[in-house]
Amino acid sequence: MTLTVAQLITETCQGLQTVDAPRLEAQLLVAQALGRDRAWLYAHGEDPAPEDVIQQVRQWALRRSAGEPAAYLLGRREFWSLDLKVGPEVLIPRPDTEILVETALSHLDEDSNASILDLGTGSGAIALALATERPKARITATDRSPLALGVAADNARHLGLDTRIQWLDGSWYDPLGDTRFDMIVSNPPYVAEADPHLGQLGHEPREALVSGADGLDDLRQIVAGAPDHLLAGGWLLVEHGADQGGAVRALFQAAGLSQVATLKDLAARDRVTLGCRG
Ligand code: GLN
Repeated sequence: MTLTVAQLITETCQGLQTVDAPRLEAQLLVAQALGRDRAWLYAHGEDPAPEDVIQQVRQWALRRSAGEPAAYLLGRREFWSLDLKVGPEVLIPRPDTEILVETALSHLDEDSNASILDLGTGSGAIALALATERPKARITATDRSPLALGVAADNARHLGLDTRIQWLDGSWYDPLGDTRFDMIVSNPPYVAEADPHLGQLGHEPREALVSGADGLDDLRQIVAGAPDHLLAGGWLLVEHGADQGGAVRALFQAAGLSQVATLKDLAARDRVTLGCRG
């Protein structure tokens, strides 16, 4: 039996009752399978859905209701209004990380030519958002996963930003020698090994999420290494867990950084800490 586009959306929506926004997700899956955007669907509800599209959408809906993130099924996620390619080799960019971008921008003039380092860039989300907003900034991004760097570089090409960012393969500061920057940003792994919340994140790369018994192993390395990689007056900004604000501020202070402060995310939980090398 053939289905119209509208009927396929309704069927998909009924199969997605376990997700937060079933109708929206059903529309996104159908639009993606048709190679259209969501707006197109409204004018074409009565069009017949091709058989291969129906099969594709049914298969995605099953995987989605079994817990696979929509961003991986669609192969993309929007961050800072940029359409980013994502896959299981990278963490899915979160809206909370836009706070990190916003805070970084508040310390950079519009025509800033600052040198900026993004540690553990993953999909490239933070580096790409900063590159779009600060056209003269010089941006370097590292990741120890070559697969992640491949995704990030693809995103840069797709957004026309490939000449703006230098991608370096290696863990934290390893590939940098003694280069210093005006700003260092990072959204490192910060979830504790035994955090029950990890159960829901099983499709994302564990190495992008988990960082030792208290979730702070990587943040310790990043903060301790910052003074040797920041120019005088340079800023370090990191994302961290909601219950880690105090511990991260203590790490910043132990590293001799000043003007240390923590900012809250969209749900009013501690999320970003920053400090300056005096
Ligand atoms: N904010 C993510 C989560 O808990 C974790 C991201 C990270 O470890 N950098 O869902």
